Amino acid sequence: MTDLPAHARVVIVGGGIVGCSVAYHLALRGVTDVVLLERSELTSGTTWHAAGLVGQLRATHNLTRLAQYTTELFATLEADTGQATGFQQRGSVSVATTEARFEELKRGASMARVFGLAVNVITAGEVKEMVPLANVDDVVGGVHLPGDGVTNPVDTTRAFAKGARARGVIIREHARVERILTEHGRAVGVTYLLDGEVGAAGEV
Ligand SMILES: Cc1cc2nc3c(=O)[nH]c(=O)nc-3n(C[C@H](O)[C@H](O)[C@H](O)COP(=O)(O)OP(=O)(O)OC[C@H]3O[C@@H](n4cnc5c(N)ncnc54)[C@H](O)[C@@H]3O)c2cc1C
Repeated sequence: MTDLPAHARVVIVGGGIVGCSVAYHLALRGVTDVVLLERSELTSGTTWHAAGLVGQLRATHNLTRLAQYTTELFATLEADTGQATGFQQRGSVSVATTEARFEELKRGASMARVFGLAVNVITAGEVKEMVPLANVDDVVGGVHLPGDGVTNPVDTTRAFAKGARARGVIIREHARVERILTEHGRAVGVTYLLDGEVGAAGEV
């Protein structure tokens, strides 16, 4: 028999950065009757391939707010969990090579300012000053966000997992969810394969 509980209030399928972040945020809000099942190892999916760029300029208000929250969170995650994340706020430069794209960047910059983000609209010459290796021959202009950064996606995911575990979440690797059980169109449980054994947990 597996040592996983037969019941959990929340079952999370997948231990990439999204699953581990959901586990962490549930735990932060006091929901700790949570089991996360990962079929392989944490971060072994798409998260492993990510470049780790953390940008705040997004196409919609909600995505901008989410990106802003993410940046603030990454700045404190290491202190909260004790797990180094590799997060560094080095800033970012986005460039436009057409007037239309430059307009789009400037619109995004205006929206970002509404949310209190530091953002500078810059000329091609200023792009060159900030990124000396850039060829700016066809650059119309750009935007610079000093608060943007880069993180290590694997270590950041581990930090979420560590923070979740510390608050009581159970995270189990090499546990493949086989089926999501439903009743009246609602997910109520899962079956999973762990160490060659079949188990079940609900509610989902
Ligand atoms: C080349 C590349 C570069 C990128 N660069 C950036 C970047 O710079 N910045 C950025 O923000 N985003 C970037 N991304 C996007 C980012 O990587 C993804 O948005 C993010 O990793 C998605 O995380 P996830 O947790 O949803 O998925 P995943 O990391 O894929 O996690 C899903 C997990 O679920 C597990 N799983 C699947 N099925 C089951 C099952 N049946 N039972 C149990 N577990 C299961 C998998 O093993 C996997 O670990 C990049 C993506 C790529 C490919």
